[in-house]
Amino acid sequence: MTRVLFATSEVYPLVKTGGLADVSASLPEALCRLGYDVNILLPGYPSAMAAASRTGTSPLAQFSIDGFNVTLVESRLPGTAVTIWLVDCPQLFGREGNPYQNDQGEDWPDNAQRFKLFAEVGARIAMGQAGLAWCPEIVHCNDWQSALLPVFLQAYPERPGTVFTIHNLAYQGLFPQTTFAALGLPETLWRYDQLEFHGQLSFIKGGLVFSDRITTVSPGYAEEIQTPELGYGLDGLLRYRRPQLSGILNGIDTRTWNPEDDQYLDRHYGRDHLKNKRLCQTALLQTMGLAANGAALLGFIGRLVEQKGLDWLLSVMPPLLERGCQFAILGSGEARFEAPLKELARKWPAHVSLKIGYDEALAHRITAGCDLFLMPSRFEPCGLNQMYSLRYGTIPVVHAVGGLRDTVFDPADTGIDHANGFCFKSPDPVSFLEAVERALDCHKNRKAWRRLQENGMAGDYSWTQSAVHYGELYQGILAERQ
Ligand code: ADP
Repeated sequence: MTRVLFATSEVYPLVKTGGLADVSASLPEALCRLGYDVNILLPGYPSAMAAASRTGTSPLAQFSIDGFNVTLVESRLPGTAVTIWLVDCPQLFGREGNPYQNDQGEDWPDNAQRFKLFAEVGARIAMGQAGLAWCPEIVHCNDWQSALLPVFLQAYPERPGTVFTIHNLAYQGLFPQTTFAALGLPETLWRYDQLEFHGQLSFIKGGLVFSDRITTVSPGYAEEIQTPELGYGLDGLLRYRRPQLSGILNGIDTRTWNPEDDQYLDRHYGRDHLKNKRLCQTALLQTMGLAANGAALLGFIGRLVEQKGLDWLLSVMPPLLERGCQFAILGSGEARFEAPLKELARKWPAHVSLKIGYDEALAHRITAGCDLFLMPSRFEPCGLNQMYSLRYGTIPVVHAVGGLRDTVFDPADTGIDHANGFCFKSPDPVSFLEAVERALDCHKNRKAWRRLQENGMAGDYSWTQSAVHYGELYQGILAERQ
């Protein structure tokens, strides 16, 4: 039973801003099912503390770090047998809302202090200095918020093995040099091959430099981050660490995301009984106030930010609306994308329905009720929505990048027998539109469409395979460090 400490800044359903939260819930659980002894470490945000207190909590340890009082609280991830440890430090984590930003969308000014403390608690647990009877053999860190943990551990020869997973390299945890000094980090770390990055303090660099293994969430993205375009200045370091770098595709939570018994759907369906999918569409049209006119229904769910290709989506919507298509859109994000979407919804009330906000139930209903699901992401480390769509017989149209190109296969590349969606390769809206048009043409061919749906629904998107890969990675580190 290998012992793993899984350090993360988000876990569904306690706190979530993106895919990291989904991974941080599903992967530890899948590893537990494989026989690993995994404990999750999470900052004690109010939402997490409240959910944990409903499940039952017990204080494990108390200490003071940098003058802050910290209580380590044990609970269980709701609905699972996975233990979660919350770093309860009200001064740093007791803030409602987004875990990283205030209501105005500005980063908390003390984010560096918050996540330095979080990493330090992890390091104490890892080195047996937290007064617990449990010590990990592997510490698995995720994104910049836990990236200082391997930095603290590298000082100890007898430390556990370390894995650092990049969920999105675009977020790096960059701070001014003055913050480096204020945090009291050892002077020796201020070097271009350690934490210094073009005159700034880079948290993520700590994870990339000091971890035994680096992973990212798809093989495609593992290649892309080694290029200047998607490496954001860290591509050289990632090429240097190529022997320790790998891509392991995320899975999805196949219990929550299952069209056969989805709690948010009134009607259920499966690969060999798709009839009710149409009823899910009828219900969705009604819920979202769209006309029931037999037109193709195109869905989009996600953060309304440049990464998700919002400008390309806005470019293709008018010609597709002229063609009679309908759109069901759910998301929130930047005003420069929300405003034109609102304008389209106002101009085309029977054809465009827009829900601004976060809505889990509606996300399931859109995934089930649409014909096509659009993901024109500029880049996409893994992406979960395309896998949800595939499982729900909703055909994805995606930009062939990162995890999207690892999971969606176009008939033009593989032939219809192995295809499950449509891809565009050139990064521009013309290619996107062309791919949607090919999908709409195929939609008219009942047999071909059905084939795509069946291929998609037959795929294995569960965590089992990925958890096995992470397990092999852990064992490789342990063997190397013996
Ligand atoms: P990212 O982490 O870049 O935001 P992912 O596709 O990896 O993108 O994960 C996003 C997750 O968040 C998916 O589970 C998606 O369905 C969900 N999601 C995003 N926006 C919303 C929203 N407005 N309402 C409900 N779920 C959302």
